[in-house]
Amino acid sequence: MSEQIERIKTLIIGSGPAGYTAAIYAARADLKPVVYTGMEPGGQLTTTTEVDNFPGYPEGIDGPTMMVQLQQQAERFGTDVRIGMATAVALSDEVGGIHRVTIDNAKEIEAETIIISTGASAKYLNLPSEQRLRGGGVSACAVCDGFFYKGQEVAIVGGGDTAAEEASYLANICKKVTMLVRKDHMRASKAMQHRVNNLDNIEIRYNTEVDEVLGEQVVEGLRMVNNQTGEKEDIPITGLFIAIGHTPNTGIFKGQLDMDETGYIITESGSTKTNKPGVFASGDAQDKIYRQAVTAAGTGCMAALDAERYLASIETATPVAQ
Ligand code: NDP
Repeated sequence: MSEQIERIKTLIIGSGPAGYTAAIYAARADLKPVVYTGMEPGGQLTTTTEVDNFPGYPEGIDGPTMMVQLQQQAERFGTDVRIGMATAVALSDEVGGIHRVTIDNAKEIEAETIIISTGASAKYLNLPSEQRLRGGGVSACAVCDGFFYKGQEVAIVGGGDTAAEEASYLANICKKVTMLVRKDHMRASKAMQHRVNNLDNIEIRYNTEVDEVLGEQVVEGLRMVNNQTGEKEDIPITGLFIAIGHTPNTGIFKGQLDMDETGYIITESGSTKTNKPGVFASGDAQDKIYRQAVTAAGTGCMAALDAERYLASIETATPVAQ
């Protein structure tokens, strides 16, 4: 139930590169942005190690440091950064209408414009044994949890860039990494494939999937299945890392914003406009193609500029009755 109502000009939901870049631009344009960070302040980059491909860092930068610096840059211009999760929304259909957002099921915010930068979350296989052992050796973040398996044998599922990057990260810490790729080839870039192929303690198993994670309280092994022959094989592992992609964090907007079949918010071509006036979407919540920190930051900038133009246009128009 709502306990307090606060009226603000610009609400930014999410605190990854998209949200903080939107905040930097919005604050400098005097849109008085309030950022609600979500469950994972700093977003996905806080769970990565070295970011080597963000322009301006010739030696690379570690993800958490980069996100702290982005927050500080946004705060330097007056952004109000708050810990909290948007739990419900009521978006107006009217140009100049007020959008209502509930934070942590308690506080209600009324905003003239909203920038959505809620990002995406890791997918799981959804096997009962995998779900049961989450936190007991099953993880979707090698960088967060790899340390616990120092000198041990682990496995990782996935054949994309994330899986390849995490496999090489784990190979530096663990005794052995078995990588399960469900096709006969990897989707990862050639450079990433080269990296995993060159590490002696990574064993790549193609056409292979998880049949069952073994262990009651903690992971003790993995039953793998070859999806061509049906042959099963058990290996002793203590950690299983899932790196099979992400789902956009857009559930609270369902039914109000136009989305594609996988939940990515649809924006107007060449802008960050959604189907609701004054509501803009940036970053991974609306991008299933590029999904890079730099593209997220780029769309965050676009969203702030779109919000600024929107607010300027309604200031000169007749106010909508509320
Ligand atoms: P991707 O969607 O690219 O890859 C997911 C992988 O998981 C694929 O190999 C897929 O197999 C596999 N997979 C999906 N579902 C299952 C399942 N149920 N069981 C087994 N395997 C499954 O996701 P990523 O997270 O790897 O990458 C996302 C984006 O981020 C990409 O654009 C990537 O290039 C980028 N990225 C870039 C990095 C960098 O440049 N440093 C680092 C990390 C990510 P299949 O191929 O059979 O569908």
